[in-house]
Amino acid sequence: MEFDLIHRHFKIPFAALVDSGSESVLAGIGDDCAALRPAENHGLYISTDTLVEDVHFFKDDSPNSVGWKALASNLSDLAACGASPIGFTLNLSLPKVDESWLAGFSAGMLELATQFRCPLVGGDTTSAGANKAITLSITVFGQAPLSHLGFHRAAAQAGDEVWVSGVPGLARLGLMLEYQSRGQLGRCCTTEQIKPVLDLLSVLPHALKSGALNALRKPIPRLALSQQLHHKANACVDLSDGLSGDLAHIAVASGLSAVLDGNKLKNIWLDNWPELASALSTDHLDTLLGTTLQGGDDFELCWTAPAIHHDAIQSLESPTHCIGQIQAGEGVWLSAQDQAHQRVSGRSYNHFAEYNP
Ligand code: ADP
Ligand code: MG
Repeated sequence: MEFDLIHRHFKIPFAALVDSGSESVLAGIGDDCAALRPAENHGLYISTDTLVEDVHFFKDDSPNSVGWKALASNLSDLAACGASPIGFTLNLSLPKVDESWLAGFSAGMLELATQFRCPLVGGDTTSAGANKAITLSITVFGQAPLSHLGFHRAAAQAGDEVWVSGVPGLARLGLMLEYQSRGQLGRCCTTEQIKPVLDLLSVLPHALKSGALNALRKPIPRLALSQQLHHKANACVDLSDGLSGDLAHIAVASGLSAVLDGNKLKNIWLDNWPELASALSTDHLDTLLGTTLQGGDDFELCWTAPAIHHDAIQSLESPTHCIGQIQAGEGVWLSAQDQAHQRVSGRSYNHFAEYNP
């Protein structure tokens, strides 16, 4: 049963993609090992992520979006390091065989894998026994020229500008909308946050709400942008846990501080949805700023780069926003007009702190 299931849901649907990645795939599904060959003078980059039902996705989420997102979070890690994908493996632990869930899951994953030419080359499929939750792990393999320095978190320099792609916090708004519709907002907000968040959600325009849900369900890893940042960015991370916490990783590893400009962060929203200027009060904007800093699941990139590259980065096709600066000191700080800098590091998603089933 197991091999038949792997064959129908994974080997056959992904066969064309494996063939098209044939220079880098020496052996795919069906052998005891997959075999990959990175291009000459390239380093091999590896990242792995696990998703657990009811922690990272809901039982009734569309399996298509679960498949997409599982792969997207891994491809985003490659983007954060400046690597491009050459293949991935998939480990599944299933409480029962649900054919229609598996078909939807495989289709969502295939859609994204095709977009970024990342063949599925192997994996493992097991029964979860008495456990009720689906657990899935993906390991992705990528490559980058040896001349690329790797965007290490410790590579930020004092004076670097801090940049982000897209709209950080958009996926978190989507998560809040999702929890709100389930009457479970308390699962992603503290008690004090619930009222201001409900106020904010009640005034958001429809287009922003659907954009937020889309960012949550089908995030696009920033692989193209990451290639364009080679030889420009020093340090880079992807925003999986939130801007303040993820940027803190760069600050700590580099032994420096990061100062973010609160107005620039608010302007990302106002530039994308100009109708917000009249719809939002100062309190709403502050709540939105908190969402931007806390984020979670955005899969946007946040990087530092010397100011000499400012114009080149600004003119890239992807949406990029310069939001602050790396300075001597430690921590992540928010600057706002006429106010002392406010410390914001440490306010991002923490799996163990916020999980209250
Ligand atoms: P083994 O006994 O060597 O562990 P398996 O029976 O687990 O092999 O798997 C058979 C083949 O199917 C292997 O090539 C393996 O990589 C592949 N495979 C198993 N599960 C998956 C999966 N979920 N996705 C992709 N390939 C898989
Ligand atoms: Mg096995």
